[in-house]
This record gives sequence, structure tokens and C-alpha cells, in this order.
Amino acid sequence: MRRAVAQNGEASGGDLFSRIGAFLHDQRLSPEPAHYSFAYTVLSDPAGPLAKAVAELTDDGVRLSRSDIESLGGAVREGAAEEAENTGRLVEETHAQVEDLANVMRAMHDETRDFGRDLAARAEEMRRAGPTPGMAELARITGAMLGRIAESERRLADATRETDELRAKLAEARVVARRDPLTGLPNRRAFEEAYAAKQGGRLCLALCDVDRFKRINDGFGHGVGDRVLTAIADTLRVSCDGHLVARHGGEEFVVLIEGLTVERAAELLEDARAGVATKRFRSRETDRMIGRVTVSVGLTAVGADERLEDVLARADRLLYTAKSTGRDRLCVD
Ligand code: GH3
Ligand code: MG
Ligand code: MG
Repeated sequence: MRRAVAQNGEASGGDLFSRIGAFLHDQRLSPEPAHYSFAYTVLSDPAGPLAKAVAELTDDGVRLSRSDIESLGGAVREGAAEEAENTGRLVEETHAQVEDLANVMRAMHDETRDFGRDLAARAEEMRRAGPTPGMAELARITGAMLGRIAESERRLADATRETDELRAKLAEARVVARRDPLTGLPNRRAFEEAYAAKQGGRLCLALCDVDRFKRINDGFGHGVGDRVLTAIADTLRVSCDGHLVARHGGEEFVVLIEGLTVERAAELLEDARAGVATKRFRSRETDRMIGRVTVSVGLTAVGADERLEDVLARADRLLYTAKSTGRDRLCVD
């Protein structure tokens, strides 16, 4: 990133737009006006204090964190991941409400049916007991009540069926909200929930990032890139069978390894890495060889009650070391 900022001074104004685009991409910022204006301020004045502060923070290609950007006066807009998160939460809340509603409906349905049955039985007993004064009037009222109850019962049965259907759809939506549609792997949300649910036991966490993946997209197109990602996801899932493999975002996967020492986990991930590296990819459309695709891995043991963000930060640093020391390798602490 120091390079990108320094180059700015020599470039023409027209170039600025493409460099703003590259800056947003490098920093994983969406093209929101707030991000654009931050990038513009950084890149349009390369000798300015903001550009210098960014160069300082991003030396050696480290990405700016949200707090870095905010501390420099920029704003980070909630992105697609945040929107997916909100949708997931909405599904969760609606699911809980529909569960309650379905229970109320069923209870009302049962009560109405039981009441109708009792009333009909009492009316029949009275009819059998023979005529008494006011009987005709009572029979008329009871008949009307039974009619109404039958109608309510029918409506409640319909409503119960509808809430049951809604409940089934929401249960499906909950599954979908936790699955990455491209690779079929659990997504980051599912991973975070699984991590939070772990209590004690030996755990290790690995971050696996595809090497030079941008080149595959640039050289063969996004569709081919997508299929390569899916193939890598499959390889990781098979290699790490019995452990949780999730898509952490973009071309990055996370593995939660349970019940293994860090040495054994390293062997497992090393086999997974080699499994990816020995595959040869070919574009289905053009039959062109894509060749070798590799992944870099950062692996770390999880401490007792350690916060996920701390574990991820450590794994990310190890991943960064794997990248900066040649890629296609595993770094473990
Ligand atoms: P490095 O070895 O340093 O990780 O290089 P890289 O090119 O893999 O890293 P970079 O972060 O520059 O690029 C990652 C690319 O992954 C950029 C982004 O467009 C692409 N990508 C992220 N998600 C998807 C996806 O779902 N499908 C496709 N086709 N590309 C994706
Ligand atoms: Mg990446
Ligand atoms: Mg990558």
C-alpha cells in the first residue's frame, strides 16, 4: 500500500479514479460515497498527513482496519456482510415469533374443538332427557353456538395449517441463512455460532486463503473463479472431514479442529494444503489449463475461553507470514 500511495504523486488526474478503485478493492471497502471520499482524500494529496498516516499503517501490505479508517476521519459503511447478518437476525426473530404463534393457534384450536364437543354432548343429553319448559329456545341457542364454534374451528384449522407452513419455511430460511450459497459450506455466521457453542475441549483454528486468486478471476473470468473456489472448498471439506470447515468470506476459509493437538492439526492442514496444490484446474468453457492453485494457511491453538476475534487475529497474522514467506505453506505457532 505504501507503493500505491507513493505512486499517486506521479500519476495524472485521470488515473486517480482507477487508483481509487484499486484502493477500495485493496482495503475491501465497497464503493460507497463515504469510502470513495476517504480514498480520494488519501490519494489526491500523497504528501498530505492522511496519506502519510495510511502509508504508515499499511506498510508491507497490511489492510487498514475499520478502527484505523475511523481514526483517520473516514467512515466505514456497513457492507453486504452486515446486511446478511441483519437478515439472519430477522429470520431468527420471526422464527421465534412464529413458533409462539403456532403454539397459541394449536392451543386455541384444541380448546375450541373440545368446547364444541362438550357442548354437543350436553345438548344431546338434554334432548334425550325429554322436553322441559324453554327447551326449544335453549336448543335454538345451543344450535347457533355449535354452528359458530364449527366455523371458528374450521378457521383455526386453516390458520394453524398456515402457521405450520410458515414455520417450515422459516426453519428452511434459518438453514439457508447459515450456508454459503456458492460452496455449500457453512458461512461465517454458522461458524461464529458453532465456535460460541463450544465448551472446553481441545480446539485449533486455521485460516486458509487462496493464493493469487485475483489472477484467476482476471485471467479466466469470475465464473471460473467461482468454480475453482467450490473445488477448493470440496477439497478442504474432504481433507478436514470431521472438523468444521466454513467459508469465512471471499477466497478465505476457516477450519475449527476439535480434539487434536496443534501438531496433529498441523499435519491435517498440511495434507489439506497439499491436496489443493496437487489438483490441476482446467477451464470447462475454453479447456485452457488454469494449472496449480494453492492456499496459504495460518494455524493456531485456541486458548481456554478465548474470544474468537483474538484467535482469528492470531491466525490472520500467521496467514500473513505464510503469504509473505512464499505462499503455498502452513504457518503455525
Ligand atoms: P493473495 O495471495 O495475497 O491472497 O492474493 P489474492 O489475489 O488471492 O488476494 P486479493 O485479496 O487481492 O484478491 C482476492 C480476490 O478474490 C478478489 C476478489 O474479487 C476475489 N473473490 C472474492 N470472493 C469471490 C467469489 O465469490 N468469487 C470469485 N470469483 N472471486 C472472489
Ligand atoms: Mg483473501
Ligand atoms: Mg488470496
